[in-house]
Amino acid sequence: MKCSKDGEFTKGELTRFGTIQLSPSAGVLNYGQAIYEGTKAYRKENGKVLLFRPDHNAVRMQLGAERMLMPSPSVDQFVDAVKQTAFANKRWVPPSGKGSLYIRPLLMGTGPVLGLGPAPEYTFIVYASPVGNYFKEGTAALNLFVEEEHARAAPGGSGGVKSITNYAPVLKALSRAKSLGFSDVLYLDSVKKKYLEEASACNVFLVKGRTIVTPATNGTILEGITRKSVMEIAFDQGYQVVEKAVHVNEIMDADEVFCTGTAVGVAPVGTITYQDKRVEYEAGDESVCQKLRSVLVGIQTGSIKDTKGWVTCIN
Ligand code: PMP
Repeated sequence: MKCSKDGEFTKGELTRFGTIQLSPSAGVLNYGQAIYEGTKAYRKENGKVLLFRPDHNAVRMQLGAERMLMPSPSVDQFVDAVKQTAFANKRWVPPSGKGSLYIRPLLMGTGPVLGLGPAPEYTFIVYASPVGNYFKEGTAALNLFVEEEHARAAPGGSGGVKSITNYAPVLKALSRAKSLGFSDVLYLDSVKKKYLEEASACNVFLVKGRTIVTPATNGTILEGITRKSVMEIAFDQGYQVVEKAVHVNEIMDADEVFCTGTAVGVAPVGTITYQDKRVEYEAGDESVCQKLRSVLVGIQTGSIKDTKGWVTCIN
């Protein structure tokens, strides 16, 4: 779907996956004017295909578009495009429990712009790919490294929205951590370098007794849809759920730590390394993380009744 600076998006069309043509002076290539979303289609035991809360991705794209000075498709246009893409690719949705179809809506400034400014034209694309586990660890516990040199986002920046420009600055830190054998990086705030933010593509939680704590989203952390779904499930199960500034020492003292995200799911953390300290966490079958994970996965794949209206069947 295409749109001029202030106009309406045109009706989209389904095409085969392939390359797209861009002007060398497209806004996205020169000034990073683009945001994306990530959502998934899951297969139910009976073969039906379910989408998980795509309307929340639509609203988050609108917030991101506003921050990046872009027009955005309406919630209906967004959800319809996601549904059509999932439907057209339904044979690629893996069997229940064997993966999912990752769906990537992408909004970018495709019009030419030489002087710094917003692009005169925008393109909204949705594409999809079957995926398995995000981490090479599979469903095993992750080993995280607390990054002190590189920050992910700064106050007043674009860290709170899903701008493509948030991801390039983490490539170096992530690649260094991976080369040292870690699964992912935990980023600290860029001002005091003492408060937890999130990992490269997922939010982070800690568990202490019956309390579950996650860093408050303050404009530098992405408000994950998995994050808010897990918080609601945890609250329903009687845990105390707290959003606040989380000092790095607090996570080193937790019983459990886990990460949440569309790609990542709900992933247990086995160890965190911060400076010269390495802490191990509870991550077994009886952990809080695994209990919350099984409820979320159950809702997403239709094995647990969706009493919250979170899933939509597309076929
Ligand atoms: N933080 C970042 C930086 C991410 O890229 C993602 C993935 N979208 C998340 C958190 C988790 O968000 P969600 O649960 O909506 O996928």
